[in-house]
Amino acid sequence: MIQKAGIACNVAVVGAGFAGLTAGVRAAQGGRKVLVFEKSPEEFYLCNSRLTGGVFHVALNDIFSDEEMLERKIMDITGGAAKRELARAIARDTKRVVSWLQGFGVRFIRASPDPWHSRVLAPPAIAQLGRRWQGRGGDALLRTLETELKKVGGEIRRGHRAHQLRRESDRCVGFTGVTANGQEFEVTAQATILADGGFQADPERLRGPITPAPEKVVQRNAGTGTGDGLRMAQAFGAAITDLNAFYGHLLSRDALSNDALWPYPWVDLLARSCMVVGSDGRRFADEGLGGTYIANQIARLPDPASSTVVFDQAGWDGPGTERFLPPNPNMIKAGGTVFKAKALPELAKLAGISEAGLLSEVESYNRALKLGTLEQMSPARTTSLCKPYAIEKAPFYAIPLAAGITYTMGGIAIDECCRVLRTDGTVIPGLYAAGNTTGGMEGGEKAGYVGGLCTSTVTGFRAGEHIVGALAT
Ligand SMILES: Cc1cc2nc3c(=O)[nH]c(=O)nc-3n(C[C@H](O)[C@H](O)[C@H](O)COP(=O)(O)OP(=O)(O)OC[C@H]3O[C@@H](n4cnc5c(N)ncnc54)[C@H](O)[C@@H]3O)c2cc1C
Repeated sequence: MIQKAGIACNVAVVGAGFAGLTAGVRAAQGGRKVLVFEKSPEEFYLCNSRLTGGVFHVALNDIFSDEEMLERKIMDITGGAAKRELARAIARDTKRVVSWLQGFGVRFIRASPDPWHSRVLAPPAIAQLGRRWQGRGGDALLRTLETELKKVGGEIRRGHRAHQLRRESDRCVGFTGVTANGQEFEVTAQATILADGGFQADPERLRGPITPAPEKVVQRNAGTGTGDGLRMAQAFGAAITDLNAFYGHLLSRDALSNDALWPYPWVDLLARSCMVVGSDGRRFADEGLGGTYIANQIARLPDPASSTVVFDQAGWDGPGTERFLPPNPNMIKAGGTVFKAKALPELAKLAGISEAGLLSEVESYNRALKLGTLEQMSPARTTSLCKPYAIEKAPFYAIPLAAGITYTMGGIAIDECCRVLRTDGTVIPGLYAAGNTTGGMEGGEKAGYVGGLCTSTVTGFRAGEHIVGALAT
């Protein structure tokens, strides 16, 4: 029988993204022996942190805003689905974590006059199409965190995939796993932190709660979040939050087969300002709630590759040109389909939409817009978050859509110290979770998006800090 390699440390972290490395550095700063286990053997292993756009915000607000306001926003956009104590932790600690990172020389820039673009990782990743992550903000921060980890005696073990948690009575005492060379290993640790990044890249986990057809949803992510932490925690008796929402954007449907079309350009601003219809020409979602909400609704359709955003020249020249790498002109540059026609019947034919359905829906929408009754439409159309545009002056445009999933919002249930909870609400001793593998900060009916960077770094930071205190006693 081949022996498992035995590895011992105080703190074992599963996953070397921002959550895992923040936790690792913080715990090692407190004098603990930390090992971070990363499944990829690559020096510059891909993960969502490496691909990030780098905008540190809290629910699309400046991280330095009033803490009570930020907490309220988190509770509002999640319809109360967020755990109050986690919302408070994010509202309070994001600025603390950003200052801590700045202490390592991590640089931020202001990317636009919008208050929530005031802290963007430098050099910015959102300046060019494609996934050019080398040397950009996410890559730079991962390298900095690894350097800092080494300075305080920690280390990343690449090519080590965690597989199963180890138990001694009710306590987690580490895990077993397999290296990229097929060697089994066994880790013994006083504290284990699951930080494996979510389950967005596991089609079977997505099928059902997120979408009936995962193959028709674009993987707008590194492909590394395969739900290992969720599976391991569940097998150990951990509670799991709702798994039915994700953070993502609206992409060209061509992104299902053309990698040049993700992560940008996204079509969110056009969609929330104009109209999204199914192949019957009818609206099916409240566009005014924004891109992440619409993307979740599209993913849930019986056929997630059947929706189209429709707008006219004013939309194309207005919201079509706003924010980073906008669809006008980048969609065309990157090879995405943009239909253009002098009249709506011709547009419907080009886009494969029911002509009768589209004509009647556009008429009702334009009428409601003029009368100020958009909020009474079915489905309702929220108007408080952005200005709705009429669809009335030729030429008319249509872009076939797909939902792009970046990360899943639900996951392992944790308390405010990032300790993993059992289904009865008690803590599992020795087990923590951080980053997008956790749940309880985002989601709800309207897929409320709080921010992947604030949630992953704050939970990592808090897990690391709590472990230092807990192991001292
Ligand atoms: C294109 C893109 C743009 C984004 N832009 C923004 C933005 O502007 N603002 C914002 O707030 N958020 C943004 N995000 C989200 C943000 O980057 C993520 O939420 C955050 O980086 C997640 O960190 P994490 O550590 O939880 O996960 P990850 O960075 O994915 O790290 C998880 C790591 O765990 C490893 N792993 C998985 N399973 C195992 C296992 N069994 N054993 C060992 N290792 C394992 C993976 O290989 C991976 O390296 C963006 C994401 C993407 C993809």
